[in-house]
Amino acid sequence: MFSEVQLQTPCSAEDIEQHSRRWEGKSCTLAGIRILQRTTRGRALGLFSLIDSLWPPLVPLKVPGQSQDCEAIKTKLPPPSFCYILMAQPDPRHVNVGEEGQISNLYLPPTVHSLKEILQVGDFNQRCSFWAQVIYRRLQVKCSVSAGQREFWLFVTDFTLQSGAKGNCGTPKTIPVYFASSCVLDKKVMEALTNACHCVIFFKDALRGNGRIICVERTVLSLQKPLLYTAAEADFSEMTSPVKLDELDSTTQANSICTTRGTISGVNESTAFSWPTCNRCSNGKLEQHPQNRGSYYCSLCSQTVILPVLKMQLEVFLHCPSRPHCTVKVKLLQKTISSVLMSSSSEDGSYEVKSVLGKEVGLLNCYVQSVTSHPSCVGLEEIALLEAGRN
Ligand SMILES: [Zn+2]
Repeated sequence: MFSEVQLQTPCSAEDIEQHSRRWEGKSCTLAGIRILQRTTRGRALGLFSLIDSLWPPLVPLKVPGQSQDCEAIKTKLPPPSFCYILMAQPDPRHVNVGEEGQISNLYLPPTVHSLKEILQVGDFNQRCSFWAQVIYRRLQVKCSVSAGQREFWLFVTDFTLQSGAKGNCGTPKTIPVYFASSCVLDKKVMEALTNACHCVIFFKDALRGNGRIICVERTVLSLQKPLLYTAAEADFSEMTSPVKLDELDSTTQANSICTTRGTISGVNESTAFSWPTCNRCSNGKLEQHPQNRGSYYCSLCSQTVILPVLKMQLEVFLHCPSRPHCTVKVKLLQKTISSVLMSSSSEDGSYEVKSVLGKEVGLLNCYVQSVTSHPSCVGLEEIALLEAGRN
C-alpha cells in the first residue's frame, strides 16, 4: 500500500532541499497522522503515475496467507489501485528519522535518463527524471508572472540530443518542457530561470506523455544533482561547446525552436513601424520637446534626447533554401533589423522596401509560432537564447 503524507509547513527554498536531505529514502516514524482521504487511480492520475514509477518494489512483497518464497506472486501483482492521503502535524519535529538515517531497502531512487532515452522509450503518462540545460524560456501568452501564475515553456537540451543527427533517429536537438504552476519550484530555481544565462536543472518525476514532457504536481526542479539516483547513461557535466538547434525543414513543428537562413523576399508593411528611444535609458515613450519642436524629451532622464535611437518592428518574408516552396515569415529582433537596414536607410531613419529585398540574413535563432501545410506557411519569431555562462 502507498500513502502520501502532506506536511503543512511553510515551504521556502531551503526547506525543500533540507527536507529531502533529511528524509529522502529513509524510514521515518510519523506522529499525529490524520487521514484526509482515500483516493483511487481514476481520481488521481498524477499521483498514480508516480506510484507506478515506484512499482514493483525492490524487496519481495509479503502477501498475507501465502508462503514468502513464492517469486511468481511478486512479478504478477498489479500496482495498487488506491492510496491514502495523510496529513501530518504542522510541526516537522513530529517526523522522526529511524535507524540512524540509513537508506531504507524499500526506497527506489529516481532513475536518471538522457533526453534521447526519454524521447525514444517514453510511454503515455510515465514519470521521468533527467538533467538538462535550459537554453530558452517562453511565458504562456495569457499568463502574467505578477499575478502569481507561472506557466511557461522551457526549451532544454543535453549531450545526447546535441550529438544526434535528426535525420537518423528522429530526435530533435532541443525539446520543449511545459511547466505548469502546480510543479514544485523553489526560489533558487526561479531565480536561475529568470536570469539571462543558461542553467542546468535536475527535473525529478516530470511527466512524459502525448509526445511532450510536462512538469506538474509532484515534479521537483532543483539546481542540485540528485542525492540518490540510478543512471545508465546520465551525464551530469555541463556542455562546453555552443548549443546547436535544428535547421528549419519540413519536419519542423510549431512550438519548437530552430535556426534558419535565407534572403529577404518581402516585407510585411502592415506590421512595420518604428519609434524613437532614449539613447541613455532606452525609454521608448519619448515626448515632443515642449520648446524645441522636432526634438525629443525623456521624462525618465528629465533631459532632452539629442541622439534618439530608432527602434523598429519588422516582419519579413524569407526565401529559405531549406524550405524553398514555403512562405516563411520572420519577426526580426532589433539587432538583425539594424544590420539589415544599416546600408539601406536614409538619414531620417526611413527605408525603402526595395533596398532590403534580396538581403541575406542568418543564421537566425527562431521560435516557431505556426506551421500550416495548406498553404505551406511557417511563422517564426527571432529569439535570443539564454547566454552560456555561470548559473
Ligand atoms: Zn532616458
